[in-house]
Amino acid sequence: MPPILEQLREVGFAIQHTPRHAQYRLLRAKIWKMLEYPEMVASDAYKIITLCDIATEFGADAVSMRDTNEVNMCKKDGYELLIRSLLEMHCVADALGVCNEAAQYYPDSFESYTEEIYGAIRAQDLPNAPTASYIPRTYPTISSEYLTRSEADIESSNAQFKRPPLDGTCRISHSTLAAGKPDVYGVFATRPIPKQGLVHKESTTFIAATRSVPAPPVAHPPHDAASIPEAFDSNCFQVRADAHVPNALHTLLFTTFLSKCARDNCPHPLEHPLIAGLTASYGPASSRKFSLQRDIRDPIHFLEYLGIDTYGDLRYDMDVLLTVYERIRNNSFGCVDRQAVEGVGPLFSFFNHSCEPNVSWQVENPGEVVAGQPPTRSIVMRAKSNIEEGEELFITYIAPESPDGFLPVEERRKELMTWMGGPCQCTRCVRESEAEKGLSLKMKELAGRLLGGA
Ligand SMILES: [Zn+2]
Repeated sequence: MPPILEQLREVGFAIQHTPRHAQYRLLRAKIWKMLEYPEMVASDAYKIITLCDIATEFGADAVSMRDTNEVNMCKKDGYELLIRSLLEMHCVADALGVCNEAAQYYPDSFESYTEEIYGAIRAQDLPNAPTASYIPRTYPTISSEYLTRSEADIESSNAQFKRPPLDGTCRISHSTLAAGKPDVYGVFATRPIPKQGLVHKESTTFIAATRSVPAPPVAHPPHDAASIPEAFDSNCFQVRADAHVPNALHTLLFTTFLSKCARDNCPHPLEHPLIAGLTASYGPASSRKFSLQRDIRDPIHFLEYLGIDTYGDLRYDMDVLLTVYERIRNNSFGCVDRQAVEGVGPLFSFFNHSCEPNVSWQVENPGEVVAGQPPTRSIVMRAKSNIEEGEELFITYIAPESPDGFLPVEERRKELMTWMGGPCQCTRCVRESEAEKGLSLKMKELAGRLLGGA
């Protein structure tokens, strides 16, 4: 293990033993900075500042520090790291907000900082807020057992495929798409399925809606897990979810998942059956917008509502939360209706994409909502043609045909980058890109002959 990762691991252990030790957080934030994970720097830096606020109220030893002087220095470092990491992710408005706050405590240091940011904006050195983002990657702090799906995960999903009414029409196995790669799975027909025949039907409660669910009482943290509501909508908490805000439904799905996790007393969020079988898509094409409110403040408040210690319980630390979020983002299906609903079907998520799919899917009863109940949706999948036993089953993640004809292969591949992190390698894309290459080669030859003959 490289020495820097060894240090990261050691400081992780130290935080686990003394979660309110602000200096350990500071050390870890600096390591994340060296490893170029600005979102993790921001999370630790934010916690350093709040820990120092605790010290102001309860004394320096509450956060394992010697005196007020040490607390002040640590808090100042926390502000600097937070502002720098926000600027690195181009969150200019957030960085300015933090700068103004910091200037109240340290006028000499941070007022000039604010001027510096304004100067950079005027000189257009910093892009505007809409481009605020970072590139999600796997975190070296997440245990490898949570990053690949175990045989037991696959077996338990296959057992669910065997339940009525499908009685094992499909089965998960290694996909034909990535021969030799152990963690790439797909779904296969276990018997012939006639055209229009039912392939799979999945009823899922892992759903979020921008409006529809009555808001749960939120005044006090629930006293027991059973009283945690199962689903949340935009009326709840600090989650500023609105159908017009990008990723709002992903955020709601994320909070719904966390509440399920707390209700089920799950040993670790990445072990929960709703999330263990899902994969994230990591690649340069899948940058994600970052916001101090949505990614740090809201999850902390939400976890506190669930009764989870956001400092001491490292199972809910930022690396785990963002891993969960990426899995949800990569596997959710949209449902365009009045309610603006997005959900995750854990079995549905195993179906791979093809630009010439042999299976079609739709969401049944998309508008149906029962008052007082979390919304549920059924995904119904049917064969588009006669399917043979043993054939891999594919759906489409995009609409491969545009209203005025076929979407060209390069455009399809661009759209699919979000899920694949690389160009789509389905039979149609491979065939069409080969044909395009062949055509351009022929054009070159022709041009060469014409020019040569002229
Ligand atoms: Zn394709």
